[in-house]
Amino acid sequence: MARREENLVGTPRWAHAYDVLCEVCREEGAAILTGVQIVLAGGDARQLEVIRQLTEKDASLTIVGFDRLDTPFSGAAKGDWSPELLTEADALVLPAVGTDDEGVIPTLFTDQELKLTDAHAAALPKASKVITGMAKPYLRKLCEKHRIELIELFERDDVAIYNSIPTAEGALMMAIQNTDITIHGSNCIVLGLGRTGFTMARTLQALGAKVKVGVRRDEMFARAFEMGFEPFHMSDLARQAGNIDLIFNTIPTMIVTAQVIAQLPQRACIIDLASKPGGTDFRFAEKRGIKALLAPGLPGIVAPKTAGRIIANSLTQILLGDNRLRGNQP
Ligand code: NAP
Repeated sequence: MARREENLVGTPRWAHAYDVLCEVCREEGAAILTGVQIVLAGGDARQLEVIRQLTEKDASLTIVGFDRLDTPFSGAAKGDWSPELLTEADALVLPAVGTDDEGVIPTLFTDQELKLTDAHAAALPKASKVITGMAKPYLRKLCEKHRIELIELFERDDVAIYNSIPTAEGALMMAIQNTDITIHGSNCIVLGLGRTGFTMARTLQALGAKVKVGVRRDEMFARAFEMGFEPFHMSDLARQAGNIDLIFNTIPTMIVTAQVIAQLPQRACIIDLASKPGGTDFRFAEKRGIKALLAPGLPGIVAPKTAGRIIANSLTQILLGDNRLRGNQP
C-alpha cells in the first residue's frame, strides 16, 4: 500500500480510487481461466489482443500460425497444426472469419497454410467448442457433422453493438477521404436502423450532418423520429435520394438499386457497410460515375486493438461461464 500512497501526491482522489479498483479487478480476474485448454489458430492483429488477454487470465494456451511474429508471448506455447494438437482442447479459437469455403484458416503471421480438415474436427473432444467471429457454411457443416458446439461471436448483440463503434468511425474516415465537403452540414442517408445503423446515424448527427434514416418497420420509424433523424420508409428510397451527399448502407440485401442510384446527384458517395456482396448495384454506380465503396471488416482495419479487445472480452466471458460450470471457479 505504501507505493499507492506515494502515488496519491498530486493525483485526484477519483483517479486513485479507479486505480485501486482496476488493480483489485486484475488480481481477482487474473487466474480465472486456470486449467482451460485453448488452441488459437490463425488470425490478424486482433488475435494478438485475444492472446494477451487469455494468457493474462492464465488459460493454457497453444497458438498456431504466429511464427513470423518476432514478439514472444509469455504464457503461450507455439504448436504445430495437426489433429493431435486438438485432442485435449476445451476450445478452438479461430479468427474473425473462421475459415474460407475450403476450410483454410486466414493467417497474417505465417506463410504456412492452416486448413481445418475433417480429421481436425474429429480430434476435438465432444464437449469442446469452436469459437469464431462468423462462420462460413464449411465450418458450420464440419461442426454439425462432429457435433461440436460452434459459437459465432459477431452474432451476439453485445459484440455487434461494441463493433458498431469502430465500424462507424471507419465509415466516417472513408466518407471524409471520398468527399470534398465536411460531414457537418452534409445530407446523409443511413439505411437500416439496426446495431450498426443506429451508431452510424447517431455519429453523423453528432457531427452536425442532416441525417435521413431508411427503415421498414413503423416502430423504427417512430424511434428514428424520436431521436431527431428524418425517417422514411424504404419503399420511398428512390424519392429521398435527390439531394444526398452520402449514403451509408447497413442492409445486407440489394437495396441501393439502379433506380435509386439514377436519382442520386453526381457528387454522391455510397459507403456500403453490409456484409459481402453488400446491398448496392456497384456495376450501375460505376456506369453512372458515382463513387460506391464496399467496406467490409472495418473494425479490424481501423482499430485492430479495440476490435481484438471486443472479441477477447466476449470470448473470456464464454470460457469463464464454462469453467464455472465445470466447478473450477466460484
Ligand atoms: P442488424 O442489427 O441486424 O441490422 C440490420 C438492419 O437491416 C435492420 O435495421 C433491419 O431491419 C434491416 N433490414 C434487413 N433486411 C432488410 C430488408 N430486406 N429491407 C429493409 N431493411 C432490412 O445488423 P447489424 O449488426 O447492424 O449489421 C448490419 C450489416 O453490417 C451486416 O451485414 C453486418 O455483417 C455488417 N457489418 C459490417 C461491418 C463492417 O465493417 N463493414 C461491421 C459490422 C457489421 P429490421 O430491424 O426491420 O429487421
